[in-house]
Amino acid sequence: MQYISTRGGTIGHYSDILVEGLAPNGGLAVPERMPQIGGDLERWRSLSYSELATEVIGLFATEIPRDDLARLCRAAYDPAKYASDRAVPLTDIGDGMTLVGLSEGPTLAFKDMAMQFLGEALEYVLATLGDVLNVLGATSGDTGSAAEHALRGRDRISVFMLSPQGRMSPFQRAQMYSLHDDNIHNIAVEGVFDDCQHLVKSLAEDLAFKREHHIGAVNSINFGRISAQIVYYVWAWLRVTDDVPAEKRDGFEVSFAVPSGNFGNILSGLYARLMGLPVRKLVLATNENNVLDEFFRTGRYRPRSAADTLATSSPSMDVSRASNLERFVFDLLGRDPERTAAAWAALAAEGEFDLSSEQERFADEFGIVSGTSSHQDRLDTIRAFAKSNGVVLDPHTADGAKVARDHVEPGVPMLVLETAKPEKFSDTISEALGSPVEPDAETQALLDAPQRVTKLPNDERRLRDLIEELALR
Ligand SMILES: *Cc1c(COP(=O)(O)O)cnc(C)c1O
Repeated sequence: MQYISTRGGTIGHYSDILVEGLAPNGGLAVPERMPQIGGDLERWRSLSYSELATEVIGLFATEIPRDDLARLCRAAYDPAKYASDRAVPLTDIGDGMTLVGLSEGPTLAFKDMAMQFLGEALEYVLATLGDVLNVLGATSGDTGSAAEHALRGRDRISVFMLSPQGRMSPFQRAQMYSLHDDNIHNIAVEGVFDDCQHLVKSLAEDLAFKREHHIGAVNSINFGRISAQIVYYVWAWLRVTDDVPAEKRDGFEVSFAVPSGNFGNILSGLYARLMGLPVRKLVLATNENNVLDEFFRTGRYRPRSAADTLATSSPSMDVSRASNLERFVFDLLGRDPERTAAAWAALAAEGEFDLSSEQERFADEFGIVSGTSSHQDRLDTIRAFAKSNGVVLDPHTADGAKVARDHVEPGVPMLVLETAKPEKFSDTISEALGSPVEPDAETQALLDAPQRVTKLPNDERRLRDLIEELALR
């Protein structure tokens, strides 16, 4: 399988795009054609999560020998790493909805599901090439911890993760700063998340520096992550249809509700659908930062500046420029790189683009519908499910469940993706339920563990010096 850029041209194979989702011409890497599941679904029913991952990811990573890929997936989805022995459990939460438990991994957020695989795959590819990688990233919480827990202690990889000093939750801080592995460098920048991102961007744009120091990223446009996320859509469909009489399984439709920010998670759902998984609707939920909801309702894409992005109680969805949207637009526009490039040229020139002439196709052809949830909706939803089912949803998952409600149809299971555990966002849970989620022994030990972090002023020179000193070579 070859990978092409959404703005034209061939990039390479799966191994080539693991380190860099961005093509040299500014486009994103996508498979040259979407592989098809075909008759494989029933054959996959008896597989464990890691075996299913081998099958699904194998459709994209065609050049990695099957035995090697199976070994990487066994390590990534080793049940010992997940709180549930099935890795991804499904729980009926009433009102026609089922919770898909994607947050059973080491950092209690769905990002573990892809990052654990990416960690294995990167180490493997680098060993094959005899190369090293210094991962440079910025985080406001979940991405950084998932990346560090997936990459800690690995050969040939080190991590430089910038976070805004004093602006993460105690839990998120503990998850990152309690890691003492030699290859993990936590850097607390005097500034906000945008300052961190800006520093990363200016270094990443210095191509000579980047090449000299083997710098790469594991951010949400990384295609390795997108491909690994497809697995749990297939898994969830298989588990739901386990309870459906065999003669009705073929083509049995389910819908998914996806709390969204950078459009990475739901893009994987869209790819599963394009590969032939019987998905009826993909329900995109945003918080008050509802640029994507506006786009899916009107066809007009008007991203906001960082300054106009609100800090909400579902912080991992505080995104106003969805980095993966270009991959959807590419498929929408008949995989035409010129039309895709034209949309992004308009965006650069005018700050927006208008696809309202195509808007009806968003739902009709691609199944995507959308909605917005507010702080009050989150609190109400957390309260309602705690009362009716005793299930405590995290604030992001609550956004998903709130928007999902408007799209539940009789006879079509609505699968709500649980993107984090409530323990991570204890303040909002307290506000909703009157008491925080009591930390279990493990969480308390994490909060009490000694922390290590390097403080840095918001100064590009100082960051360069640090990387020059500590980077693998
Ligand atoms: C990252 C994240 C999201 C948003 O996912 P995207 O792939 O960026 O759309 C939602 N909820 C939580 C808890 C997250 O960490």
